[in-house]
Amino acid sequence: MVKARIIKALSVGCVMLMVLMGCSMVVAAKKDEEKVRCIVLFKDNIDKKLVEDNNGEVLDTYDIIPGLVADMTKSDIKELMKSDKVKSVEEDAEAEIIGDAKDEGNGNDRGGSPSPPAQTNPWGILKINADDAWTKSKGTSIKVAVMDTGIDTGHSDLKVAGGINVIGGSSYKDDNGHGTHCAGIIAALDNTIGVIGVGPGVSLYAIKALNKQGSGSYSNFIKGLDWAYSNGMQVVSMSFGGTSTTTAFETACAKAKANGIVLVAAAGNSGGPIIYPAAYSSVIAVGATDKTNTVASWSCYGSQLDLVAPGVEIYSTFTGNIYKTLSGTSMACPHVSGTVALLLYTVPGLRTDSNGIKYDTNGDNIWDPSEVQHCLEDTASDLGSGGKDSYYGYGLVNAQKAVGIA
Ligand code: CA
Ligand code: CA
Repeated sequence: MVKARIIKALSVGCVMLMVLMGCSMVVAAKKDEEKVRCIVLFKDNIDKKLVEDNNGEVLDTYDIIPGLVADMTKSDIKELMKSDKVKSVEEDAEAEIIGDAKDEGNGNDRGGSPSPPAQTNPWGILKINADDAWTKSKGTSIKVAVMDTGIDTGHSDLKVAGGINVIGGSSYKDDNGHGTHCAGIIAALDNTIGVIGVGPGVSLYAIKALNKQGSGSYSNFIKGLDWAYSNGMQVVSMSFGGTSTTTAFETACAKAKANGIVLVAAAGNSGGPIIYPAAYSSVIAVGATDKTNTVASWSCYGSQLDLVAPGVEIYSTFTGNIYKTLSGTSMACPHVSGTVALLLYTVPGLRTDSNGIKYDTNGDNIWDPSEVQHCLEDTASDLGSGGKDSYYGYGLVNAQKAVGIA
């Protein structure tokens, strides 16, 4: 789609220039043409020189896909795409966090200093039966990365094992609050204060890929997946999305899954079609439900929806060592990411699904992401119309059943 759009835009532009100014001006105009940020995906191997030979300024290369990021003019992109080695050249696209729009406001803020609130189990934790799963699994040492605005490393109710900033700068500290809120839903500590996450034993990592305003680019999300792949992450939680798609990002998600990483993403808050990356087949798409197990009116829906989880008025950690109540599919997504961690810790190789079919299809006693997804869907509590549907997917995630407690 992007490929077609670029070609079309170029040809229309050229025709207009020729009509208005004559062909001699076209060459002059090309020299002043602005460069755009693009993602070049190769069929087999990265060919940096090919891009440079086409006047591209290479900014970054990826490991997870044979691709790179470059600044190029649209004319040079058109030339580059003539090469047999190139699969796609796409303009970089933006995506945003999808929870802040439903911010319930500061009335629910509770300070962490000087006297932090006593520990409670948020309703979402109880609703997915995470507390009932803890006798068997707390997700201990399972590596879960929150790709978001960073995580508040100074929060008393979180322990961040590591991370990376892929948008420039060395710190993955959260300057927005959204990433810290999602992190708490996954892995807030079981101590005496604040909240408990779905998997209080999880090894929590921050991939800071969205800025202070909560926006980020697909080129940086791929960089984030690159890091997750190189650093042995088992789950990547993505509470962001955009309405546009790129072949490069979709390919990177598929490669991450093929390398054993379970990808979970928020379905979106527009009440319309499911956004990307949630809509990709390699990603578990999560919608938001309230305390009555009713899907939120703004929760995106469609055939790509896999599961729902609590996402309305969710109390969790926030930057500045405080707690805040937020709503959004952004809050639903980490409930599922945490449940994946609970499941992975149990190493449940021998279990069978409700039809008596072994989850571990190849018998290696390791669950690949498809097998994990199958289990979550098979053990979810069906909601809405019977069986899988567009508003609830396979239903409400059930952590207790997912870890094999009947
Ligand atoms: Ca706590
Ligand atoms: Ca259903």
